Amino acid sequence: MTTSVRREPTFVGMPPFPEAAHKELANGVQRANLRKATHTIRAKREAVVEELPDWELLRRAGEAIKDDVLARLPELLERLEASVRAAGGIVHWARDADEANAIVVAVARAKGVDEVIKVKSMVTEEIELNNALADAGIHAWETDLAQLIVQLGEDLPSHILVPAIHRNRAQIREIFLREMGRFGRPAPAHMSDEPAALAAAARRHLREKFLRAEVAVSGGNFAIADTGTVCVVESEGNGRMCLTLPKTLITVLGVEKLLPTWSDLEVFLQLLPRSSTGERMNPYTSMWTGVTPGDGPQEFHLILLDNGRSDVLSDPTGRQALRCIRCSACLNVCPVYERTGGHAYGSVYPGPIGAILTPQLRGIAKHPVDAQTASLPFASSLCGACFDACPVRIDIPDVLLHLRAQVVDGGRGPHDRAEAAGMKAVQWAFEKPWRIGLAQHVAGMGSRFARHGVIGRLPLPEKLLPRKVTGPLGEWFTDRDAPAPPPESFRSWYKRTDGGTEA
Ligand code: SF4
Repeated sequence: MTTSVRREPTFVGMPPFPEAAHKELANGVQRANLRKATHTIRAKREAVVEELPDWELLRRAGEAIKDDVLARLPELLERLEASVRAAGGIVHWARDADEANAIVVAVARAKGVDEVIKVKSMVTEEIELNNALADAGIHAWETDLAQLIVQLGEDLPSHILVPAIHRNRAQIREIFLREMGRFGRPAPAHMSDEPAALAAAARRHLREKFLRAEVAVSGGNFAIADTGTVCVVESEGNGRMCLTLPKTLITVLGVEKLLPTWSDLEVFLQLLPRSSTGERMNPYTSMWTGVTPGDGPQEFHLILLDNGRSDVLSDPTGRQALRCIRCSACLNVCPVYERTGGHAYGSVYPGPIGAILTPQLRGIAKHPVDAQTASLPFASSLCGACFDACPVRIDIPDVLLHLRAQVVDGGRGPHDRAEAAGMKAVQWAFEKPWRIGLAQHVAGMGSRFARHGVIGRLPLPEKLLPRKVTGPLGEWFTDRDAPAPPPESFRSWYKRTDGGTEA
């Protein structure tokens, strides 16, 4: 290889969601592209889901299996490790992105290569593997068509399943004509923007890379603890090429991708294609177990990645996000995503799942996070369409509210503390009847400060008040009038008049 290794753009430094969304909303072409694409996938999904009378039972089975995996994760991971080793694979453990990237770079260097081919994988985008490889002087060639469009266009992905969903045919043609020749076989000069012509150009461009690559990198949709089998589903056949042609295969797997047994896979191979591409089954389902002599890669590395997942697991409400099978059904039904697109979320995980997964992976509950991360749980109208569409029944609105509370609690200022103190005082008063009576008596004294039936300032003598009321309650009394409490409470009146009989 002679071309220079190009670093790719990242989401680092993106503005908070409202600011980013405001900018994206001004892009009329993108909104039209998104609307057309999401509505098309949505209609296909609905049609194939309606075919299955047991769809709701399948959803509940998927939820139960994933919850069981999360409850037994350490045990199942050790079982997977033993199974993969027994089948001739090499297992690595990575606490974070840096460790995972270092392992991939070390394996590639050990093989003496300056390029790897890649199967589209969310987890390698999460850890920014391509830039880690670029820093080591190694090209990472994306082979999924949409991912190739993003990479050649020096763009950012905007959808889990269709990363270039924000691009139309004319834009893709222009990117191919401009960029393909810089990194391999150029696109034909007179290529049209017909999908078949664009796909043919990509196929010819990628073929030479498939045929010469010595090392491939993939993610994994599922890994079966009992047997050590890893499963990748895809639509184009590029994944099958990556998983079978090179001599060395490196798979980076989020630890939550486990399934206990083969029979569990049956459930997910029905749920996933219907929810993602609106198909009854994936065109390509590739599975491999360790190494098979004389067949496929002869060296297999499995990197088990945590990168914040253990922290997510420790939150009883938030952990359901780890059930996610990255189908993107929640994106396709989300009214917010449809209008803003994926870039506004500032993460490789856009849409509703991104709004709950990204803040948790970045540690929103453990330490102060940046304004962009803190804005994500608010990037939703809470309409609930995402929960209805989710094949593993992740209650995204519930987790959003849970995370919003954490953001608010984490950023409490003097006003919030005053409100919290007030609520504590109310709680104290309501715990015992005599305390309520006392509180009402004190409140009744406030009527002395009322004029025309309302309290328009702090109930303090005039001479003690500054010209402009400031402090925790200042804004309240600047902008609002509180009704004056009656001079005597109902309880006091009832007691004094014996229920009104002496009135
Ligand atoms: S949250 Fe549910 S609907 Fe959204 S990508 Fe994950 S599995 Fe699919």
